Amino acid sequence: MPIYEYKCASCSRISSFFVQGFGEPEDLCCQACGGRDLKRIISRVNYHQSQSERLSSYDPKARMSGDFYKDSRNIGLHAEHMLQKAGVKPTDEFKSKIENLRSDPSRVIKDSDK
Ligand SMILES: [Zn+2]
Repeated sequence: MPIYEYKCASCSRISSFFVQGFGEPEDLCCQACGGRDLKRIISRVNYHQSQSERLSSYDPKARMSGDFYKDSRNIGLHAEHMLQKAGVKPTDEFKSKIENLRSDPSRVIKDSDK
């Protein structure tokens, strides 16, 4: 379940909410002052996503921020997305390569130097 963070327009404090499903939650109010003018903070949401949520929310046409590329969990996301779009089930070899890349990118670079 994703956790979204909202910044309060009145007191500038940040409130966190568990969100069910993918819709924008309603009736949120600031946990500090009760204010209702909350703006969602996008940047930290991805941190809480599972890998399958990450894949389903991946948009190849969207411009990715620098943080997207710094996060090793996003490695191979494009390849996974393309396979899914083509209706191809990723092989175990593919999955384990991606998993290795995500957990230890430097090791895979060393391996391919051989
Ligand atoms: Zn507030």
